[in-house]
Amino acid sequence: MSQAYNFSAGPAMLPRAVLEQIQGELLEYGNAKASVMEISHRGADFMGLAKKSEQDLRDLMNIPSNYKVLFLQGGASSQFSMVPVNLLRGKNKANYAHTGHWSKKAIAEAKRYCDVNICTDNSANKYTDIDDFSNWNIDADGAYLHYTPNETIAGLEFDYIPEADMPLVADMSSTILSREIDVSKYGVIYAGAQKNIGPAGLTVVIVREDLIGQVVENQPVLFDYSTQANNESMYNTPPTFAWYAAGRVFEWVKAQGGLAGMGKINQTKAQTLYSAIDNSDFYSNPVAPKYRSWMNVPFLLADDNLNGLFLEKAFDAGLLALKGHRSVGGMRASIYNAMPQEGIDALVSFMGDFEKENG
Ligand SMILES: *Cc1c(COP(=O)(O)O)cnc(C)c1O
Repeated sequence: MSQAYNFSAGPAMLPRAVLEQIQGELLEYGNAKASVMEISHRGADFMGLAKKSEQDLRDLMNIPSNYKVLFLQGGASSQFSMVPVNLLRGKNKANYAHTGHWSKKAIAEAKRYCDVNICTDNSANKYTDIDDFSNWNIDADGAYLHYTPNETIAGLEFDYIPEADMPLVADMSSTILSREIDVSKYGVIYAGAQKNIGPAGLTVVIVREDLIGQVVENQPVLFDYSTQANNESMYNTPPTFAWYAAGRVFEWVKAQGGLAGMGKINQTKAQTLYSAIDNSDFYSNPVAPKYRSWMNVPFLLADDNLNGLFLEKAFDAGLLALKGHRSVGGMRASIYNAMPQEGIDALVSFMGDFEKENG
């Protein structure tokens, strides 16, 4: 296989070592004499795997014992609905921070269930900056406060945790496991797996126990957190292969030094790339330096007409999926946990060469 670095925003690169491990045990899982894809989720082999993966995630994130960890389907987008359904608890209002494409989608869905108070809105600066928390307008009648710690498309990441007198809900799809966080500050954390956890198809939800079981009436049974919380995420068939692969990724993250180790590696990677961009007149990144994402790095070329050539040459050099989101243009390098420093170095070196030839 050729050496390539995949900068896809999601589904994203997985650690090479994990892919090789999966390849090695794909036909027979442990002593099961069958593939992990072919065995019952209720059998001892899968139950053991499920238990270990949850414990590894609890260790990694230091999840307090009064939180449930749910392994669901439906993607982060299903949580845009499940959060209001479960967390309104008799109220008719919720606070949402509008800081990018994904929070906007969460807001649109919440509006189907309640009044939404937009407590901060940075759409006027095209999601390149975040307002100081002291300027937010939080409605005390809101049942909860929802925000998106890392906005995947604009490459905008919070450097602070909002705090209000109500449960805090975070869509961590593109930042979970990338650095240490204090889970106890949150009511609910959710993440689609396909960025930093594993293959698409799995959605991880971490929810404080006292928030479970007060669901809005007449909702689908699968929308109620208690359905899966009371059944170890096996009320119906879970996405077994994705869950298994996520477990292998958790083991890999542990081996990188856990979230403290991962955070150091990620910070260095991001710094390498941002300083290459800042030290050039040819490339630029529009995000306020304080809020630049460690995971998603959008950058523009001085001349948009060169975008096609850049992408073509990058692909030939084994640097994949650098095309920016259509709403931002230019390029975007997603540099999740699985991207090694060597991948960043290869990209930076390619960018230097491209600038010399075309700048
Ligand atoms: C990718 C992404 C989503 C969408 O996830 P799905 O699993 O496709 O529903 C939601 N929020 C954020 C922050 C994302 O990065």
